[in-house]
Amino acid sequence: MPANEPTWTTERIELLKIHFSAGLSCREIAGEIGVSRNAVIGKLSRLNLTREKKPEIRRASSKTNRPRSVPRLQYRILRKLFAEPVPAEDGEAIHSERHCSLLELSEERCRWPINSPGEEDFCFCGNRPLGGLPYCAGHSRLAYQASSRQRVARG
Ligand SMILES: [Zn+2]
Repeated sequence: MPANEPTWTTERIELLKIHFSAGLSCREIAGEIGVSRNAVIGKLSRLNLTREKKPEIRRASSKTNRPRSVPRLQYRILRKLFAEPVPAEDGEAIHSERHCSLLELSEERCRWPINSPGEEDFCFCGNRPLGGLPYCAGHSRLAYQASSRQRVARG
């Protein structure tokens, strides 16, 4: 090959990159683009195209170094967020032991309706309400959930 004719034409360099990224060996690349295997190796190193550094090793070591507590911490936060006991929609999970009628309602009685108004067994929860609220603890939460659900639905 004459010295003034460059081995690495733009086309050959492009082919080299293409074949390299396709995973061909240096010998195969050399055969494809018609240069010596040593020329391929030399050009690849000059282009910083090398398979010597195995990324799997670096990935494996960074895996062991990664703090495993991060996903666990997220999990714990999520657990905490959803750990709040959610009362049943119909209020069954809330123990209303002091059922009272409309006439019996007072400041000291949770006024959450049990059953539908007009039904024969319609009454009110009657539990001791939370301070400043018309409902007991369970029904206050239920009321809050219902209103926040409505807000979401109205969106
Ligand atoms: Zn109640």
